[in-house]
Formats: sequence, structure tokens, C-alpha cells
Amino acid sequence: MSTLPSLSTWALNIAPSPTLAVDAKAKSLIAAGEDVCGFAAGEPDFDTPAHIKDAAIKALRDGKTKYAPTPGIPPLRDAIAQKYTEFYQIPTQAAQVVVSPGGKFSCYLTILATCSAGDEVIIPAPFWVSYPEMVKLAGATPVQILATDATGFKLTPAMLEAAITPRSKLLILNSPSNPTGAVYTLAELEALTTVAVKHNLYIMSDEIYEHLLYDGVKHVSPASFSAEARERTIIVSGFAKTFAMTGWRLGTIVAPATIAKAVGELQSQMTSNATTFAQWGALAAYTEKEKTQAALDEMLVAFDRRRKFLHTALNKIPGVSCVLSQGAFYLFPNIASFGIDDLKFCERLLAEHKVAAVHGSAFGAQGFMRISYATSDAILAKGVERLAKFCASL
Ligand SMILES: *Cc1c(COP(=O)(O)O)cnc(C)c1O
Repeated sequence: MSTLPSLSTWALNIAPSPTLAVDAKAKSLIAAGEDVCGFAAGEPDFDTPAHIKDAAIKALRDGKTKYAPTPGIPPLRDAIAQKYTEFYQIPTQAAQVVVSPGGKFSCYLTILATCSAGDEVIIPAPFWVSYPEMVKLAGATPVQILATDATGFKLTPAMLEAAITPRSKLLILNSPSNPTGAVYTLAELEALTTVAVKHNLYIMSDEIYEHLLYDGVKHVSPASFSAEARERTIIVSGFAKTFAMTGWRLGTIVAPATIAKAVGELQSQMTSNATTFAQWGALAAYTEKEKTQAALDEMLVAFDRRRKFLHTALNKIPGVSCVLSQGAFYLFPNIASFGIDDLKFCERLLAEHKVAAVHGSAFGAQGFMRISYATSDAILAKGVERLAKFCASL
């Protein structure tokens, strides 16, 4: 047998997604009949609203089964441009919108369009697991800055200033955050944006959880602050989290026209368009606004109830402390007081008590764990009880 050439440095060096891995393990245990409480999933436990499914089914029946324009079907790009212009007061033309096969791919395209070898990308930690790996795949260098629960998991302007070098090219922001649920206030975000403008950085603002907000908090985008902010901000979002459409693989990018054009050209060589009939389905989220809002409201009521329950229950466990964050569907409790490595903690929690959650160090924050409350109230209650038992045993 001959010795084959080695695989690429990209293939050899990539760290596979730990969140998908833990969730897959939990799902396979459940499939094998184990009574596992799954807190690892990064997806809503609801189904896609019926009017969106119906529109996709109709599109299939109507023969919308061919290639679409690379940056997306025109009515969907128009609807997205209109949303940003009217809802967020960010003037947006359809030419600034690209529809991609998922928010994840939108992030990757954005990084590829803005960063080259030698460039540094500032990533506030705790971060979404894919950012550093995507930056490395683009040949650029991830620079992590850790913001713990001491600052509500939020970066301060001074922390950002301290991380900037002449090679800094892109700042990644993600509010509401995965994994912490933290939401920047308008003033906090404006202060960070000012630093990014001053140092001439691009900003990738991952706003995929823009609609999953509680306590009356409003979403803001860095692009809304000024023309200088807008010309450097690439907004990434998508349908997966807001409309329970994770499996549809549809994301969006809204960027200044030159960047949107570059993103579209990259996409033209990498995937062509996002699935055509899926885009026609997604369009119904905008054209049938009342149904969409009703479906979203129902999810928000359930998420908010679970968020409050989980926050109270976690803080009752001796040794655990948890910030009540105001977005997404995650809480990120501090478990450092137990004095064991967080990966070990989560491995033992799954093996001994059948609760699946992701260790904080997967997100660049040792001593924490991520709990997704995108699961039923009953599983949440059972899982927290098991967690309390485990903590008491340590
Ligand atoms: C889920 C998620 C995405 C992308 O999701 P897709 O399913 O690819 O649309 C992007 N960023 C963050 C922070 C996420 O949690």
C-alpha cells in the first residue's frame, strides 16, 4: 500500500464544532433510549411557522427548482432591504443584500471578503465557536479578548483599544450573544463602534438573534450610528433562530455595495445561490407579517418564561452563579467554584447524570458552561434538578 500525500493544513488544523459534537452525542444517546436532558442544542425547539412552510411547498409545486441569481431572488433581497431601511432606519438598497446558505456561511464569506494572511481579527470571548476557525481558514489571525461575567460578558472600549494593533482589520460583534445571551446597550455599542471607526476597522456584526430579546430591550446595529459606521459594517443575520428554520440553511448579509458585490462574487464560485424554493418560503416571513409576528411572539413568551425559571434555579444551586442575560436562548453560568476543569465537569454531567451542555472553554471562557433553554419546560426542570444533584456531589 502506498503512503498517500498528507491532507491540507486546513483539514488538519481545523477544530470541529464542539457544540454540534455535544448535541450529536446527546441525540444519539436519546435515540438509543437513554433519558438525556439536552441543553446543548443551538436551535429553537419549535417548528417553522406554517405559512413559511406552505410558501416553500408552493414554490416547489410551481417549479421554483432552478438556479436563482447568486445573491438571492429579487423579491427577498427587496424585502430584506426594506426591513433594514424601515425597521432599523439603516438606508439599504437591494444591491447591498446577499442571501447565503446560512448565517454561518454569511460569517465565513464576510471574513473571506475582508481579511487576508497577516490580518488580525478581534474576537470578544466568550465567542461563537466558529469565528476563530473561520478566521484561520481565511489565513488571518484570531485575537481573543475575554470579557467575563464581571462585565456582563461585554467588551469595554478600553479592552478593545488594548487589543488593537496596526494589523487589526476586523472586529467581530455578536449581540445578542451566543453563548452568553448578553445584549449590548445602545451606549455600549456606540462606544465600541467609535473605537472601531477611530482605528479604521471593519465590523462584522452578527445579529442572528436580533429578534430574541426580553425585558423590553431593543436591538441596535453598529451600522445605525453614523455614515462612518455604516461604510465599515457588515451585518450578518438569517432565518434560522428567529423563525425556527435551522435546517433550511438560509442566511443574509447586508453590507456597503462594494463589499456586498465582493461577497456575491465569492459565493458565485463557492456555492452559487442559496436553495431557490427555500428563499421563496422565507419571503413569506416578510409578506405575511402578521402571521410571522404571531409565531415569533409565541416563541418569545416560552423562551422568556424558561429564561427566568432557569436563571432562578441555577442561582439556587450552591456554587453556581448566573447572570440574567436578555437575549438569544442561552444562559452561561459560572461553575469555577467547583475547582474542576469545565470540560471534565460537562463530561461527567453527561456520563453520570445524563445532562448534555457545552463547556465554557469551547467558547474561550474556562470555568463556565452554556445552557440552551430552547427545550421544553419539563426537560429544563428535570435537567436543572440533575445538575443540582451533581454539583452537590462535588
Ligand atoms: C446559529 C448561529 C449562526 C448561524 O446560523 P445558521 O444556521 O448558519 O443560519 C450565526 N451566528 C451565531 C452566533 C449563531 O448562534
